[in-house]
Amino acid sequence: MSVRNIVTLSHNPAITYSTKDDDFIEDPTPSPVTENVPWISWFCSRPGREYFVEVRDDFIEDLFNLTGLNLAVPFYNEALDLILDRNNPETLKKLDMGVVETSAQILYGLIHQRYIITRMGLHQMAEKYSTGIFGCCPRVNCCYTHVLPAGRSDVVGRMPVVLFCPNCLDLYAPSSSKYKNIDGSFFGTTFPHLFFETYPELNPKRAIPCGNIYQPRIYGFKVSEFSKTGPRMQWLRMYLTDSSDSDSESEIESESESD
Ligand SMILES: [Zn+2]
Repeated sequence: MSVRNIVTLSHNPAITYSTKDDDFIEDPTPSPVTENVPWISWFCSRPGREYFVEVRDDFIEDLFNLTGLNLAVPFYNEALDLILDRNNPETLKKLDMGVVETSAQILYGLIHQRYIITRMGLHQMAEKYSTGIFGCCPRVNCCYTHVLPAGRSDVVGRMPVVLFCPNCLDLYAPSSSKYKNIDGSFFGTTFPHLFFETYPELNPKRAIPCGNIYQPRIYGFKVSEFSKTGPRMQWLRMYLTDSSDSDSESEIESESESD
């Protein structure tokens, strides 16, 4: 099996493309070159690639969708040919396949960032989201709300992927180390928010009543919000978007008064 190196970015301002993949589970998937597996299917089926969807060939073949990416990725043409399975064996023999492979994975990630904010890409991500494949929010009071992958930058090499919770509107690091080297730009800063604008029915609408916000207590008495160790999250967690939220606020106010 040919050695295919995962995109490993330093997440420092200076990008380095490591050829080491010792942080990852050994990939049992055969090389698409020898097994005639489409490169995109091979890429998305590898361990740690569960967040990705398969970008349609016609999206990639439309060069308008790739505008500017030739400046962001070395060996752009060779990488693009590899992604679309148009690689010429004679040409590839002359190149370092490890470098072309790494470029192809970065290029695919940047194309993926653009694809998942199209109608088809959003639909494919919605199917994944519904199955909970991206995981759940680790915050106790979010009660296992499904999260979405997101980036804190649209530029490759800046930040690794994070998970956005639509209930508490916060970001979390993936729990598994196999995602730690997935670049956040492969999902981008726009995706999770456009996703819930497009599919409002999938938004939990902050289903957790505000009254369930964690309240620190000492011997049963609430810790004062003026204390240095007192609660800071009440107002951050409150939303007045509909009548149910207003009711929740009233409940909290009445609870405060009773205390
Ligand atoms: Zn949450």
